Amino acid sequence: MAGALGDTAVAQPAGQAQFRPCRHLQPRPAAPGVLTVTDRPVTEGAAATGEVSPEALLRRCVHCGFCLATCPTYRLLGEENDSPRGRLDLMAQFLDGGPSGPEALRHLDRCLECRACETTCPSGVAYHRVLAQVRPRLAVRHPRPLHRRLLRCLLGRLLPWPERTAALLDLAGHFAFLLPGGLRRRLPPRRLLPRRPPPAAPDLLVLGGCIQSVTHPQTNRDLATLLAAGGWSLEELEHPACCGALNAHLDQRPLAEDHMKAWIRTWEQRSRAVGRPLGILAVASGCALHLREYGDYFATDPAWGARARAFAAAVRDPAELVTPDQVRGLARHSPWRRLVFHVPCTLAHGLGTGERVRALLEAAGFTLLPDPDPWRCCGAAGAWSLLHPRLARRLLEARLARLPLAEADAIVTANLGCQLQLASGTDLPVVHWVELLGAAQVRGAAQGTSAGRRSR
Ligand code: SF4
Ligand code: SF4
Repeated sequence: MAGALGDTAVAQPAGQAQFRPCRHLQPRPAAPGVLTVTDRPVTEGAAATGEVSPEALLRRCVHCGFCLATCPTYRLLGEENDSPRGRLDLMAQFLDGGPSGPEALRHLDRCLECRACETTCPSGVAYHRVLAQVRPRLAVRHPRPLHRRLLRCLLGRLLPWPERTAALLDLAGHFAFLLPGGLRRRLPPRRLLPRRPPPAAPDLLVLGGCIQSVTHPQTNRDLATLLAAGGWSLEELEHPACCGALNAHLDQRPLAEDHMKAWIRTWEQRSRAVGRPLGILAVASGCALHLREYGDYFATDPAWGARARAFAAAVRDPAELVTPDQVRGLARHSPWRRLVFHVPCTLAHGLGTGERVRALLEAAGFTLLPDPDPWRCCGAAGAWSLLHPRLARRLLEARLARLPLAEADAIVTANLGCQLQLASGTDLPVVHWVELLGAAQVRGAAQGTSAGRRSR
């Protein structure tokens, strides 16, 4: 076990548990000199000021337009209403009772929720918080076309459940010849791994992942391998499998809350069983960010607010628990050396751990090829790419076109959605950094030369 109990407390399900940080799970400092502006805390800006109403958040926008330069949809379409500033204006008009209609909702639906605008904004406009509060209200006033509603409903009721996703993939596999080429290329193979018995007293719980557990179950195994070298033991949770992000981004709040409450309850039960708050991990950065923001979702809920904040305080990104020393030299056990590092938006603009991952890859000995357009969105954005396949394809092509793929052995990233999206547009292997380092460690151990063995 890596950490001591300290003075932490397990949240009690029935009460208004007092929020206390999990001191034994504090992130270890990254290597000196690797912290950059992207390593900002996720609560920075308007969120930290206590402003919660969309009107208050909107007042921060000074219409400077800096955010336009980094917005993927504005860069692609060149429309003011498909820019952060334009969307904020559309939402302000709606809140003011001004003219609004289905057209406004169409522009809001085109938003990838990548948060690049928040990183760029000098006024700290918490754009995603405004969107999360206003778009569902706009959709009630001006319902989406029937076919859109059906598709959103279908995605929200299938994808968050691994068994349904697996059945869907099996079905799609049988009838792949009927699918359009773009969708066929995006179909990931279904993979199965036998369950492993969980450790008796784990330090950390990891999300199985609704899609990940069906398409990339090995990544959590690789995470367990990496963390074991640092003394952490990990239990993968089969249920609940989904963090709720998918439903939340589809504005399906009740379904999202079901997943989130199930996670909070499970964490509380497991933590009570071992007598200390367990850490919570997700290898997909999109899921990790959503887990870390549970406190925001239940901020005004008297029954769940404190429990959600206690839960969120226990969430860690894997890059915060693996140290450069643990992975030093592992690249020599990998079939690839020269990598393109695609930083997912959720890592760059949400979790802020992109530089930590970069430091780990460099410590392992990989060569990271220069990216002329770092943090450019690949067009995945969860279910967004299924709702907007043409735009997603154009964003992917624009992303890949500027990467030095001819010199690379593989693309490495940190989010499953990006992994699937990028893999649909290139023949290069596309891997999660955890998978890359975990597999190298296993190979190294098999050869008796891994860094882990040497240090024992
Ligand atoms: S950068 Fe910020 S303040 Fe400027 S227009 Fe965009 S959201 Fe508004
Ligand atoms: S979240 Fe991304 S796509 Fe949406 S407005 Fe901001 S930069 Fe543009």
